[in-house]
Amino acid sequence: MKIAMVGSGYVGLVSGACFADFGHEVVCIDKDQSKIDRLRDGVMPIYEPGLEALVANNVKAGRLSFTTDLAEGIGGASAVFIAVGTPSRRGDGHADLSFVYAVAREVGEHLTNDAVVVTKSTVPVCTGDEVERIIRESGTRYRIAVVSNPEFLREGAAIGDFKRPDRIVIGAEDDFGREVMREVYRPLFLNESPLLFVSRRSAEITKYAANAFLATKITFINEVADLCEKVGGDVQDVARGIGLDNRIGSKFLHAGPGYGGSCFPKDTLALLKTAEDYDSPLRIVEAVAKVNDSRKRAMGRKVIEALGGMDAARGKRVAMLGLTFKPNTDDMRDSPSIAIAQTLMDAGVAVTAYDPEGMELAAPLMPEVEMCKDPYTAIEGADGVVLVTEWDAFRALDLERVKQLAKAPVLVDLRNIYKPDFVRAAGFEYSSVGRG
Ligand code: NAD
Repeated sequence: MKIAMVGSGYVGLVSGACFADFGHEVVCIDKDQSKIDRLRDGVMPIYEPGLEALVANNVKAGRLSFTTDLAEGIGGASAVFIAVGTPSRRGDGHADLSFVYAVAREVGEHLTNDAVVVTKSTVPVCTGDEVERIIRESGTRYRIAVVSNPEFLREGAAIGDFKRPDRIVIGAEDDFGREVMREVYRPLFLNESPLLFVSRRSAEITKYAANAFLATKITFINEVADLCEKVGGDVQDVARGIGLDNRIGSKFLHAGPGYGGSCFPKDTLALLKTAEDYDSPLRIVEAVAKVNDSRKRAMGRKVIEALGGMDAARGKRVAMLGLTFKPNTDDMRDSPSIAIAQTLMDAGVAVTAYDPEGMELAAPLMPEVEMCKDPYTAIEGADGVVLVTEWDAFRALDLERVKQLAKAPVLVDLRNIYKPDFVRAAGFEYSSVGRG
């Protein structure tokens, strides 16, 4: 089966490479010429573990190719996936669907065969109706079905998630759509991944509901962490205590600096806009978005506190370890590190930083932060260290060396990756999240 993937970013490229690995013939399309040039040269435009080898193998096998030419790329494809970005629209927080609609228009104009058009981008409910209208309006004479197939992969573990998903949600309105999608995902039957056929609108809502629920779980434990800090409890113990209950589950119960990344912040916001439009408030999600928003700067203030308070902190310097919103990605979109760095700088605290993969994308977002070549260079002469992202590289820092290099042995661990007793015994003034 030939598949066209329009948009070759985190989702499109991973999905395209995985479909090719399943044995399909895949063309990844992107309007970004430099991205396509790099891909053709075997250079990955993003950091995602395992992706380079997966792409190389499938290119070599002749199943995966890249183009900027949509008309050429979709020719003969039975399924055309739309995997372009749906960022927050400037000003109002609605999902910006202009990229999705632009692709729909182009697809409609250039189809040369019957095809199922699949929205993989995260799009608000009823977007599929509009995509279908646009394609039909473009005057295509071919049979089409517009299907919603939201993506649930996580950056950093994207290939495993795509190949062994907990479920695949397919929102289709007719048999043509369902049959083609069954064929697209047939290789996953072997993994017994459940294929959920639902209505298109249900599929669209499912994606937002899933993200909002996960964001709620994170935000809930973060607030519990704050209470633990005030009363002398340990949020790690509490999280374990509730997470072992199967009805709750232990995942997404790690207290930290607040959720970030390319999905949760924008998707919770977009869902709230949808709820507003349909006069069907989602008050829990409203609270989640608000609480999470204020948490990021609160984490900056926590670091200032560790430096001795506002007055003492002014003129000092902090080494920030980790900039990406989570480990194993270079994605900096809405990372808590941005607000934390800003809060520090607003208080007159200088920041040096190190991140294994994120510095290239981080540098333009925080031009006043000095990027360093390794954690120890960032720490040298700093008045404190703040651990923002739990990269493996930071789990076993040479604490003796840190102590020697830093001006003061102050460590703020926003991911709770160190044991308080151990770090304090090593001579550090240590603070973490929710371990009062
Ligand atoms: P991205 O920004 O990494 O990639 C989007 C790509 O689409 C870019 O390369 C861009 O050049 C390309 N593009 C835009 N307009 C185009 C056009 N008209 N023709 C061809 N290419 C075009 O975005 P992403 O992170 O891959 O996200 C894509 C969608 O998937 C979003 O809706 C997002 O919410 C959703 N999603 C993302 C993740 C994630 O972890 N990143 C997970 C699940 C769902």
